[in-house]
Amino acid sequence: MPELPEVEALARWLRPQLVGQRIEALEIHRPLVFRSLLTDVEPAEVLAGRTVQDVTRRAKYLLISFEDDLWLAVHFMLTGNLEPCEANARGRGGRVRVRDYYRLSFSNGLTLRYHDLRGMGKTYLTDDLAQVPGMTDLGPDALDSALTLERFLERLGPYRGEIKGVLTRERAVAGIGNAYADEILFAAGIYPFRKRTQLSPQELENLYTAMRQVLEERLAVAMESLPRTHNMHHREGLQVHGRPGEPCPRCGAPISEIKVARRPTHFCRQCQPGLLLRN
Ligand SMILES: [Zn+2]
Repeated sequence: MPELPEVEALARWLRPQLVGQRIEALEIHRPLVFRSLLTDVEPAEVLAGRTVQDVTRRAKYLLISFEDDLWLAVHFMLTGNLEPCEANARGRGGRVRVRDYYRLSFSNGLTLRYHDLRGMGKTYLTDDLAQVPGMTDLGPDALDSALTLERFLERLGPYRGEIKGVLTRERAVAGIGNAYADEILFAAGIYPFRKRTQLSPQELENLYTAMRQVLEERLAVAMESLPRTHNMHHREGLQVHGRPGEPCPRCGAPISEIKVARRPTHFCRQCQPGLLLRN
């Protein structure tokens, strides 16, 4: 699932290309992922001719704003991807692939297609972001400069469970998913299944520092790779996530895997010591 770094990299790649451009066409091939929260209007009609005001991000949502407070909010879920595609002779996108859900064509000739293998993502058209499911539940963004150590500790305060589960709660701190929680906990040297309440003040401070460092580093990686691959699921150079059995980059011990509810957690037993205790 694209997390904060990939969605931010996409927003930064799209912003200079889209701001000031008009939408020429919205073509919906498969309506499943496209949800209009406006009543009695045809999305393609409402969007045609609209000018992009900005391209931003909130947690794992990509936000494209238009005049009259109109928004597209894209959540990619497990397999969604927004990518440029070739325009054909009519100025529209070329061949439609099986898992293409919709296309947006802009006045500068850029066409973006939304592709999603599992079709679990959602794109909302709305004039009120608060109506987008989950949006008002989001805690502060993990890279928000206003999220100081003190504020971070306050946000984690109500959650007493396993620290990996707490880190991935969008209500506590927004933007971190399964992959970067593993990377952040590895960087902080913290066992993912320890309870938040068992962590010392020093460990929580290390966690905060690791969160900021890992996300900044991964944003730089994503900004380099995205314009090349146009694949938000392509991640180069992860330390532990997605690498079970490979040597730990710090100590050389094999990276461990524990699956909880089919979600894998990858970590190093040497560098992140702890016991799996469930109750
Ligand atoms: Zn290690």
